[in-house]
Amino acid sequence: MTYNKQIIKRIEERLEHGKKEYPDDLNVHDGRNWLKETVEELLDSLVYVTAFAIQLEETTRRKNNPHRFSCVKCGNGFAQAKDSELCIYCYKKIYNT
Ligand SMILES: [Zn+2]
Repeated sequence: MTYNKQIIKRIEERLEHGKKEYPDDLNVHDGRNWLKETVEELLDSLVYVTAFAIQLEETTRRKNNPHRFSCVKCGNGFAQAKDSELCIYCYKKIYNT
C-alpha cells in the first residue's frame, strides 16, 4: 500500500472512530467552534509528540549505553532498585516499601 493510501485509510478510520461518539456523519453545522477544536487538538498533539520524543530519546540513550541506568518514571539515573526499569525512589513510592 502506498503512503498516500495509508494516510487516506487512517483518515477514514478516524472518521469511523468519530461515528462511535456521534451517531451520524460529521455535521459541519453542529455548533462546534472548529477553529477552537483545532487549536485544542494541536496543543494536545504537541504534548503527545513531545512525550513521544522524550520516550524515544530515553530508549535510544539506553540502547547506546546499556550500562547507564535511567528510571522509566522520572529519568533519574541515580540508583537502581529491584525493578530494572525504576530508580529506588520511584520503586519505594510505587510499592510503598
Ligand atoms: Zn525514578
